[in-house]
Amino acid sequence: MIFTYRVTTHQTYIEAIPELEEEKYGFRAEAPYPKITLNNHRLIFNYPVKNIHPDLLALLCLITFYPFCKHWITFPKFISTHFNQTINQLKPYGMVQGKYVPLSQYFQVRNVDSQLKPYSGGKQKCVAYGGGIDSTAVICLFPDAIIIHEKCINQPDRTQNIMQDLSSTHQVLCIESNNKLIAKPRGWCTWASCASTSVLVATDYDIGYIMLGSSLGSVYLNNGRSYYPAHQRGYENQNQWFRLFQALNLHIFSPIAGISEIGLTKILKCHSKYIDKLIYCILKEGDNCHQCWKCLRRDLILTYVVRNYQKVNWDQYHQKKILKHLQALPNEGGPSLQHALVHSIPYLPNWLRSWGYYLTLFPLVLQTDLWITRYYQKALDLVPPEFRPKIKEQIEYYLLPLPKDQEYLIETWHPNKTITTMD
Ligand SMILES: [Zn+2]
Repeated sequence: MIFTYRVTTHQTYIEAIPELEEEKYGFRAEAPYPKITLNNHRLIFNYPVKNIHPDLLALLCLITFYPFCKHWITFPKFISTHFNQTINQLKPYGMVQGKYVPLSQYFQVRNVDSQLKPYSGGKQKCVAYGGGIDSTAVICLFPDAIIIHEKCINQPDRTQNIMQDLSSTHQVLCIESNNKLIAKPRGWCTWASCASTSVLVATDYDIGYIMLGSSLGSVYLNNGRSYYPAHQRGYENQNQWFRLFQALNLHIFSPIAGISEIGLTKILKCHSKYIDKLIYCILKEGDNCHQCWKCLRRDLILTYVVRNYQKVNWDQYHQKKILKHLQALPNEGGPSLQHALVHSIPYLPNWLRSWGYYLTLFPLVLQTDLWITRYYQKALDLVPPEFRPKIKEQIEYYLLPLPKDQEYLIETWHPNKTITTMD
């Protein structure tokens, strides 16, 4: 793959030029790894970058176009030997006998400059901001971070309005990009792509830390399916994406990996001005549709914590597609949703209330009372060591830590086990 790069008065372009037919196809580097086609060779940002270290430019190419790179790569500029050593440990992934696995050869870079000093890392921290509960809670915890929102080009997006409000108190950047339109079917090609805009502006804004809004549910509980000990490999050895960023002294991490969605909403409750502005779905012209499963989950959690049940028209959710999700309980929705549903029973219409009663039959759902508003201290191992005391202090301003001898409550969470317990 050959990459080129151009900056105009208003935009930055990165072009991916396949050298082989097979570089037009790949598999999205995120489960369930669907096959994707390189639909748009040109990545556009409506931001004319002033300065970008060649290694960061290479990182941006990789996190955007990784599934399409197969072996040889020519980056837009010569990269440092240091970064090349990390890239040389990377392999392309592909589907072999139905499994997503690393292929045999490592990546080889054609243009390496042994004289180029690697990116030394910046002092500033930023939040890759989406407008939902998770990343807004990160803003509450770190009001001094630069807020960076990537808006999908030519699409309505109400988060842009929140960004305008935030601009009076925070340093904000709202940058349009076609990042999610590069592949067909659309979507980011790798999860690390959520940090693309932050990587683009890192040199200009002296950024050394990119904070993500991944909570306990996605990092530790496999979105409610079962517990996974995410901290076990330590901050340094999480996976190839983290290693790429770390090689450039650009640290990417989630400071809220130990906090449930209910814990995060408790933090937001202390900053009530954000509550009515949160965007967790874009199906209604860039705004919450209040009809999908995601909106129901968020509305239940928000109203449970804020206690404003009258504000939501719950009957809007009384439809087949929602009932399908509810019928999959307790294997659906995760512990925060289940906790909120059980504790909202008196305030909900009959059709929804019955699912809350159903969940009270499961002991592990009731056990969430003991931990759902506490933070899981082991998650501190997932952030850069120099940040741990600060993050601990910021979180403990809002939430108590879960005592060590009760951490098993999270570590044994498993919806099927709930059923076993019933047996
Ligand atoms: Zn929705």
